[in-house]
Amino acid sequence: MANSTIYENVLKQLDNAATVLDLDPQIKELLQEPMRTLSVSIPVKMDDDSIHVFKGFRCQHNDVLGPTKGGIRFHPQVCEDEVKALAAWMTFKCSLVGIPYGGAKGGVLVNPKDLSRNELERLSRGFIQAISPIIGPDKDIPAPDVYTDAQVMSWFMDEFSKIKGVNTPGLVTGKPVVLGGSFGRHSATARGVMYTVREAAKAIGLELNGATVAVQGYGNAGSFSAKFLNELGCKIVAANDSKGGIYCESGFDPVKVAKHKEETGSVKDYVGCEEISNEDLLTMDVDILVPAALENQITEANADHIKARMIAEAANGPTTPKADEILFKKNIMIIPDILANAGGVTVSYFEWVQNLANYYWSKEEVDRKLEDIMVDAFEKVYNTHENLGVNMRVAAFIVAIRRLTAAMEARGWVYNGDKKC
Ligand code: GLU
Repeated sequence: MANSTIYENVLKQLDNAATVLDLDPQIKELLQEPMRTLSVSIPVKMDDDSIHVFKGFRCQHNDVLGPTKGGIRFHPQVCEDEVKALAAWMTFKCSLVGIPYGGAKGGVLVNPKDLSRNELERLSRGFIQAISPIIGPDKDIPAPDVYTDAQVMSWFMDEFSKIKGVNTPGLVTGKPVVLGGSFGRHSATARGVMYTVREAAKAIGLELNGATVAVQGYGNAGSFSAKFLNELGCKIVAANDSKGGIYCESGFDPVKVAKHKEETGSVKDYVGCEEISNEDLLTMDVDILVPAALENQITEANADHIKARMIAEAANGPTTPKADEILFKKNIMIIPDILANAGGVTVSYFEWVQNLANYYWSKEEVDRKLEDIMVDAFEKVYNTHENLGVNMRVAAFIVAIRRLTAAMEARGWVYNGDKKC
């Protein structure tokens, strides 16, 4: 049987929660399809004067809770199905953590490592021109995602400001601090992962001091998760990226490994470590596994071999629904993506609020507010999991869907019978 598509995975997750909730079919239908997906072609003048036409998408899944929000990724395997799925997860993620946003996502089919800096700038500006009619600080607010960063956000913001003739810092989040970015945004996804791991460890009685961790993917989310978990006393024993993986039984310094990756382009060949494959890393005998790369990494083919006690999903969609069933039977504590990695969009929300108010907060204030939101979201999900006897992913979707339902009923998108407000 062919593997399910990523969007089919989302539909299955929605379905699982809808069944437990006995969800109104009208609401389910509204959540099953994105509101709109814009598909664009972006002609870019390359350094050799040739023109290359890139393909890109921006999908806005649902805006009942507010303007849509979500990153833009530059990756050679981007497709419409993936962008739709990532947009839907943003709807559930924003709802779950209680911020006033809907969900969106964008993507451009490109390997940014193949482009010069000037080509990357022209592509970034071209993409924003192409989607400018449907974005804006009160419509849809992009942010960084896989292979996009603060520099790309700066070009997005600058291009949009030029098109509109108005300086518009609130168009995107994840900007550098000098352009209205927020303190703490750069490492916010991982800080959120760390808070949820800390809470989950308390819940299952896992001692974090000395707990072993393997991190799949050593980009922004993965490398900072390793750093913050190490600060909590965890021992980081394995990490990898698209070029290879490393293992060291006594643990390594995650900051030094990040520096090595910055200098060489990979975690590979870090001194004192053995080489390991991606499959070795995922199935390693560790306490905590942090998938921080792409979707569909933990599947029915490898789920049964996973030995970690806890999986903290720093990536979006790393686990397929079939793998979920196997992992839950094995009693592994999963902190689902829409909870574990929600720290990024939460601090994006803080950044946007600061831009709209033109008043900026200290790093301490950002971290404190993030901690409150993440701990509260974890408690809501964990209590739902305990009270309803459902797994953590279903619990997270239930918390998210309840808020979306209330908003749809209040707006009159669905008939709410005789219910009193
Ligand atoms: N790309 C991140 C995510 O998947 C952040 C999105 C944002 O900050 O808007 O959650």
